[in-house]
Amino acid sequence: MDREAEREIRGRIETVSGPTVVASGMVGARMHTTCLVGEAGLLGEIILVSGERATIQVYEDTTGLRLGEEVVSLSQPLLARLGPGLLSRVFDGVERPLEALEAVFGPFIGRGCGAEPLDPDRTWGFEPRKARGERVAPGDVLGVVRETEAVEHRVLVPPGMSGVVREIRSGAVTGREPLCTLEGGGEIGLYQEWPVRVPRPSAGELAPSEPLITGQRVFDTLLPVARGGTAAVPGGFGTGKTVVEQTLARFAKVDIVVYIGCGERGNEITDILTEFPELRDPETGLSLSERTVLIVNTSNMPVAAREASIFTGITIAEYYRDMGYHVALMADSISRWAEALREISSRLEEMPGEEGYPPYLATRLGRFYERAGVVRCLGDGGRTGSVTVISAVSPPGGDFSEPVTQASLRFAGTLWALDRDLAHRRHFPAISVEGSFSLYYDELADWYTDNVSPELDGLRARFLSLLQREMELKEVMQIIGMEGLQEKDRLVIEGAALAREVFLRQSAYDEVDAFCTPQKQFWMLKAIMSYLDAMEAALSRGEYLESLLENPIRAKLVTMHSVPNEGFADFCRRLIDELEVHFAQKRGEEGGR
Ligand code: ADP
Ligand code: MG
Repeated sequence: MDREAEREIRGRIETVSGPTVVASGMVGARMHTTCLVGEAGLLGEIILVSGERATIQVYEDTTGLRLGEEVVSLSQPLLARLGPGLLSRVFDGVERPLEALEAVFGPFIGRGCGAEPLDPDRTWGFEPRKARGERVAPGDVLGVVRETEAVEHRVLVPPGMSGVVREIRSGAVTGREPLCTLEGGGEIGLYQEWPVRVPRPSAGELAPSEPLITGQRVFDTLLPVARGGTAAVPGGFGTGKTVVEQTLARFAKVDIVVYIGCGERGNEITDILTEFPELRDPETGLSLSERTVLIVNTSNMPVAAREASIFTGITIAEYYRDMGYHVALMADSISRWAEALREISSRLEEMPGEEGYPPYLATRLGRFYERAGVVRCLGDGGRTGSVTVISAVSPPGGDFSEPVTQASLRFAGTLWALDRDLAHRRHFPAISVEGSFSLYYDELADWYTDNVSPELDGLRARFLSLLQREMELKEVMQIIGMEGLQEKDRLVIEGAALAREVFLRQSAYDEVDAFCTPQKQFWMLKAIMSYLDAMEAALSRGEYLESLLENPIRAKLVTMHSVPNEGFADFCRRLIDELEVHFAQKRGEEGGR
């Protein structure tokens, strides 16, 4: 490549406007290539070329740049560096490593200092899986290193490389020397690079067929997101978006979590930084940070890097997917990302679209969401991997008709709508079941039948129709009041209230209840429905709701969330027996009278 010649593209700063810089004399500069801006060498990306002028979005603070300072084109796209050493680390939106807490509070990193995302001198114990003379192709596992106790890092042949292994190393290796050389001269290192705005290739997309288990009842049982799917979590201020994202980062059944703190306040990130290393995965006992990569661009950090952060994040997610892992990516919040896009667009004096967002808002957002999916990985071993995207959306004033929420809905397979009234009443998670949807449920129904219970589907449908019926009755009640309702309709109101209280409400801070297994979710549903069935049968025998409500079972249902996952099925079986005995006795008393 004539890289040397291209490197010669040099211009001078002509204007500086917030995060954007216009440089003149950039003849030959190409869109979406990076440059070093000014004497400080700030990293930027060309987003507009016009004649010999290039407009550059600068990923670092532009304060102090002077007109006339030099701009040097790097003639390459914005790249993510990929390799072992990403997990348990914190990066900014263009993958510069941040020292954990300084990242949040302060002048965190020298500008233009070009810190390496991955330490080239760190040694890793490499176990080769290929030998001299073997033919390798993209995605083949060359060998593995133990990245953290929780995760084996599979070093893959990068896309576009193939050939016969001439030499492959074993044992201690660093990022400085090739791990493997191919006949004819190709070299593969421990660290690889990939342009963040380009999806990584796979051997094909698969239809999502498994839910992403989150341990949250309202999600797993009623509104599941598939592994490889997308979920949007819109909600007004204080409705619980961040708690949803962080709870899922803790509990979701995935191998890897990429968490992007995007334009929110620093203190929210501090929670993760301080808590995650302490928190243990209940199954492996290992620190949660060992499976997590954190990308942070808080509100006080440069907006252009915020724009890049979701693409850097999803590139890292795809990289682990390609190893055959299930990855969850959380972005909090995509609205702050869109605001960054809007700010840059307004500096370019582009024609604004709705509410000042650029007309390409949805297209750009689509390029992010569309990288979620389940894939057959390139290479040997028949691996599959997935990237699930769960993004918070912060509509101003909680109004979901605004452009960022609407754009997100175009790409989201699951909507978890947060409701201000529920949050005010401290019903958490404040998900409005009526206002939410899951387009995956039908595809996942078989999974639930096989892995939880064939009865679940029916119970779920009854649960949803109970809530539906309640909503209709509430409208009627507006007119005629509770007293005007028939006994069996009053039971619906009572039953729905119980279902909300017992099943839908779930504290993220309760030791036992924060993670509820799908089995426990099923048994909880079954217990609630069995109770309502027994009540209904008693009503139709002519008993009165008021006297039926005086029963010892209800109190047990209300507190059953605090019974641990293990042994919950037995607890419930006993409860259902007790319930039958109780209502049978009542019948007995009745009959004896
Ligand atoms: P947002 O990010 O939407 O502004 P947060 O996620 O910060 O809102 O939530 C605000 C507060 O609501 C939290 O500090 C917490 O007290 C409460 N909360 C939200 N979700 C839950 C939950 N699942 N369990 C318990 N409390 C919650
Ligand atoms: Mg928040």
